Amino acid sequence: MNVDVIIAGAGPTGLMLACELALAGVRTRILERRTEPQRDSRALTLHPRSLELMDQRGLLDRFLALGRTVPGWHFAQLPTHLDFSALDSRHGYTLFLAQARTEALLAERARELGVEILYGHEVVALSQDDDGVEVRVRGPQGVGTLRARFAVGCDGGRSRVREAAGIGFPGTDETLTGVLGDVAVIDDDPAVLGAARARGILVAPLEDGLTRLVYVDPERMRVPAREPVAWEEFRASLIRICGSDCGVAEPRWLSRFGNATRLAENYRSGRILLAGDAAHIHFPAAGQGLNTGLQDAMNLGWKLAAAVHGWSPPGLLDSYDAERNPVGRAVTENTEAQTLLAELTLVPQYQRPGAALRQLLDELLQIEEVNHSLAAQVSALGTAYPPANPGADPLVGRRMPDVGLTATGSEATRVYELLHEGRFVHLDLAGDPQLGAAVAGWGPRVTAVTVTKRDDHPDLEGVSEILVRPDGHIAWATRTADIVTRRDERHEALSAWAGTHS
Ligand SMILES: Cc1cc2nc3c(=O)[nH]c(=O)nc-3n(C[C@H](O)[C@H](O)[C@H](O)COP(=O)(O)OP(=O)(O)OC[C@H]3O[C@@H](n4cnc5c(N)ncnc54)[C@H](O)[C@@H]3O)c2cc1C
Repeated sequence: MNVDVIIAGAGPTGLMLACELALAGVRTRILERRTEPQRDSRALTLHPRSLELMDQRGLLDRFLALGRTVPGWHFAQLPTHLDFSALDSRHGYTLFLAQARTEALLAERARELGVEILYGHEVVALSQDDDGVEVRVRGPQGVGTLRARFAVGCDGGRSRVREAAGIGFPGTDETLTGVLGDVAVIDDDPAVLGAARARGILVAPLEDGLTRLVYVDPERMRVPAREPVAWEEFRASLIRICGSDCGVAEPRWLSRFGNATRLAENYRSGRILLAGDAAHIHFPAAGQGLNTGLQDAMNLGWKLAAAVHGWSPPGLLDSYDAERNPVGRAVTENTEAQTLLAELTLVPQYQRPGAALRQLLDELLQIEEVNHSLAAQVSALGTAYPPANPGADPLVGRRMPDVGLTATGSEATRVYELLHEGRFVHLDLAGDPQLGAAVAGWGPRVTAVTVTKRDDHPDLEGVSEILVRPDGHIAWATRTADIVTRRDERHEALSAWAGTHS
């Protein structure tokens, strides 16, 4: 089968991207080096914006059925947690779900949409010309060459694709490592686990009866991440940190991870793009890596589909780097800040001032506005892309809230249901009898509805029309009541985002 896009890597980012591309009718193939799907639990947290994305594609129930929700998550392991439930979202919580499960659900969806996932196929080299990308692959039948119009490196932190594309990955090497262990048996005495938590050990129940413990042991924190964790080391560290081994037994997975922090110089070089850990790596503080990768994929999918289908307005594909690279930078910076806050308590000469600083920050987190601001960042609900036009409505670039509505010609009861097909959604909130004819030229790229009734939302006060991008961010909004001005602005916005009128 000839394909339009080859994705290297069937991790969460590659799978999510494949789903988005296939939904948009792009022939997509994933090449995965591993010979079988992920079995390790790895990342645990799906934060609110990722859950909203699943909701926008009608997938959320599959995830909720397997995971467990918690109302917020930590920042730098400070005692006062970020309160996601106070944020403006139907999904103001974190879902605990092992990465292996997340990947399995995304792979299932990708296959339903016709994506081919080839395990045991390693991308070994890549080159591009004006028309496409040539990918050298080592598979069970030996080394061969595949061609596609675009290739995307979702192949993790040591990305071969990034290297072949000559994209720099500046940043800092690992200086500190932590350890995680998934165990089947643990002392369930609240006093024991409370003591562990009080000494900075993260204790989180997994969905299948296992418990995840994560810690940084001052005596072992300079051990390189590549060094395996022995069971005796794991238990000895727990005893050193909190005075007991917490009754752990029957380890299922032990791993060491580091704080190397790097960000790709560009997420695009011609026909080659990067997403997920291939574009950004950092300490897994507050569980943001997988989430950021899913959100990269959601931003890239429809833009790359537009390029493949030939209707992409100028600059659309470049806006992927322009929008997502700053998000990657912000995540790497907040994880560096969190790592430093943890390290301060581990290095003897900083322990006292470090504890004082942490206490100060914890007190600040108890202030609603502070907690809200940081929660918006870690949950990614606060992510907004700067508008190209400085005079744009303040809504432009922000995520569309999932307001309840009734709309003519649609059975949807809220905005996110209108996004299930991955198209633009045009909401006419003020009623223009010519709306249908006006957007008809954009055909299947745009779902246009006239809203007859909607829930109140402070951000939508006085708004007469909104164009929502396939990734759920607002492309254009207007508050003008003048129908002629609205029509002109609407035509301009649709042309700028959804390509030329046919
Ligand atoms: C201990 C730990 C805990 C974490 N906890 C969280 C958490 O709670 N929440 C969170 O959001 N994030 C967490 N993360 C981060 C998260 O695991 C990563 O950010 C996430 O896996 C990135 O997904 P990805 O698809 O971009 O890359 P990866 O998951 O690394 O997937 C890349 C895929 O590409 C394949 N591949 C590599 N090279 C090639 C090649 N040449 N050809 C073909 N295939 C190739 C690999 O086999 C792999 O399957 C954690 C990470 C660690 C280490």
